[in-house]
Amino acid sequence: MNPVLITGCAGFIGMHCAKRLLEQGVPVVGIDNLNHYYDVALKHARLDQLRPHAHFRFVELDVADRPGMERLFAEVLPGKVLHLAAQAGVRYSIDQPDDYTDSNLLGFGNILQSCRKHRVQHLVYASSSSVYGGNTKMPFAESDAVDHPISYYAATKKANELMAHTYSHLYGIPTTGLRFFTVYGPWGRPDMALFKFTKAMLAGETIDVYGEGKLVRDFTYIDDIVEGIMRVLDKPATADAGYDSQHPNPGTSTAPYRIFNIGNNSPTLLMDYIAALESALDITADKRMLPIQPGDMHSTAADTRALQAWVGFAPAMPVSTGVQQFVDWYRSFYRV
Ligand code: NAD
Repeated sequence: MNPVLITGCAGFIGMHCAKRLLEQGVPVVGIDNLNHYYDVALKHARLDQLRPHAHFRFVELDVADRPGMERLFAEVLPGKVLHLAAQAGVRYSIDQPDDYTDSNLLGFGNILQSCRKHRVQHLVYASSSSVYGGNTKMPFAESDAVDHPISYYAATKKANELMAHTYSHLYGIPTTGLRFFTVYGPWGRPDMALFKFTKAMLAGETIDVYGEGKLVRDFTYIDDIVEGIMRVLDKPATADAGYDSQHPNPGTSTAPYRIFNIGNNSPTLLMDYIAALESALDITADKRMLPIQPGDMHSTAADTRALQAWVGFAPAMPVSTGVQQFVDWYRSFYRV
């Protein structure tokens, strides 16, 4: 069996997906550049979850390194590619756009080229709810994404979708972009609100609540995300009845080009998310209310009917239970 290549496999979502595939006996080659955007020790600890599996191989590599990527693809001959490596984070993109150009644009171009050259069966890649920009029509359906992203991060994700379309159209590469909606859970990212709030509250520090607590997010639990990704990877990437109706420009591609929301279908006020955390930690947070940050969206909500129709995606985790799962992991991992 040709391995699945996972980029960004030392990352939050990448590690969980690699683990699930390995537990199913699927060989996985994982790559990651182990950058210092956040605590590298956490990335190594995630990799330690994968290393005991006999069919796992890790290669430290930057997706922006074209010769390195080409050598890797030629050697590994992946059947499918799950591309999750990216410079993530809306706020960081305001100060450090170059990192996004390198990883998210150049890196994505390299992925497409290698998938084309080695006739990969299916490229599944991470897009983001941020592509909906300042859209106020809720929930977001896939066709609601406008071409006015409000952060450079969002622009790179939207660009990825456009780039993927050309490779599906011109070279017959089946591609599926998944627009993730604020993913949270065990092994989650230190730059995201849940991690930052938990750390601060356990240290007795004040938490910074942007948008005066009125922001709304469709917080999606990691296990639901992994389940959705696995279903997409398992589904043969051929044109079928669901293809043309979902495609924004029916009939223009020679291979399936798909885009799906993958969210929780249950938008939650930031203050309610914080309340769930206060209850899980049994600590009342000292909150500093701050205005919305540049580049941030006010609200996100996923219409997930298209993914449900295609692979039966049905998110199951309520926020209160998911937040508790995160807290249990955090306390045991950091021994606090
Ligand atoms: P993450 O930062 O934990 O994982 C990304 C991994 O990619 C990291 O381990 C990082 O070291 C690696 N990486 C970054 N640039 C690289 C490069 N140039 N070459 C090789 N490796 C590189 O983030 P995550 O939360 O697991 O997100 C995975 C994907 O999903 C990303 O593309 C992200 O933009 C997207 N996404 C995530 C969320 C979310 O809520 N977590 C929401 C929307 C979209």
